[in-house]
Amino acid sequence: MPGIQIHDKFFVPFINADTINKRVRALAGKINSEYAGKNPLLIGILNGSFIFAADLFRELMIEAEISFIKLVSYKGTSTTGHVISAIGLEENLHGRHIIIVEDIIDTGKTLSTFLPEIYLRNPASVKIATFLSKPAALQFDVKADFNAFEIEDKFVVGYGLDYDGLGRNLPDLYILES
Ligand code: 5GP
Ligand code: MG
Repeated sequence: MPGIQIHDKFFVPFINADTINKRVRALAGKINSEYAGKNPLLIGILNGSFIFAADLFRELMIEAEISFIKLVSYKGTSTTGHVISAIGLEENLHGRHIIIVEDIIDTGKTLSTFLPEIYLRNPASVKIATFLSKPAALQFDVKADFNAFEIEDKFVVGYGLDYDGLGRNLPDLYILES
């Protein structure tokens, strides 16, 4: 696999599609056994998670539902600070087993700000499935329950993740050349 250029930056191959697909299947296997008979509701966070969420969902052999939301962040009042709110969360989460599906946990800020919104709706349980995480970059108290790959603290594109809009359709994951 050759390196690629997106906008002004160069990226080199990092994790190939085969390896990704095997790991996603393994995660789905865990969910299959843990959630049989529970009809979990997967909530994918757009845009980055759409490919991971679709691949993961296709591998679920149990009764399961999926929905997608978009998070918008804006400046709240001086007491609330930075606010992240969900668009498109119409499902009734009360008593449901929720699996949040993210592309990547970087600092953990997005999820740690958003998760209270989920808990307010009284779900039966909440777990997090993320395609990637960067343990060295973590600054907030969030932990993935299902994590396909832990990676170093460098910028990556592909498999749903973009650099300024481009690169989401790459089947392999690429990392910024250093
Ligand atoms: P956090 O709130 O955990 O710091 O950031 C999570 C979000 O930052 C991800 O959902 C993603 O949109 C973006 N992000 C963090 N690291 C990367 C990366 O290496 N590549 C891309 N494309 N997006 C990233
Ligand atoms: Mg994202």
